[in-house]
Amino acid sequence: MSNYYCKHCGTKYSSISSLTAGSCFRHPAGSNKGKHALYEGAEKSRYECKFCGTGYSSLSSLTAGSCYRHPIGSNKGRHEAAL
Ligand SMILES: [Zn+2]
Ligand SMILES: [Zn+2]
Repeated sequence: MSNYYCKHCGTKYSSISSLTAGSCFRHPAGSNKGKHALYEGAEKSRYECKFCGTGYSSLSSLTAGSCYRHPIGSNKGRHEAAL
């Protein structure tokens, strides 16, 4: 069985339909202001932020941190995982 992860918060689901049904507490528009969105990259042992390259061992820890090279401004958004 496959695992599916939200690209905003790293929450794991067993199906895309259940993932996209849930509100995301780390949605870019605000906490719970949108649904989880599918991370379309492969499951990895290490994830890197596509803006700053910082590496994390999980999507949930990557998305927990503010990104100092975020496109809208330093620390104005969270790290985003590269695919
Ligand atoms: Zn989410
Ligand atoms: Zn970053």
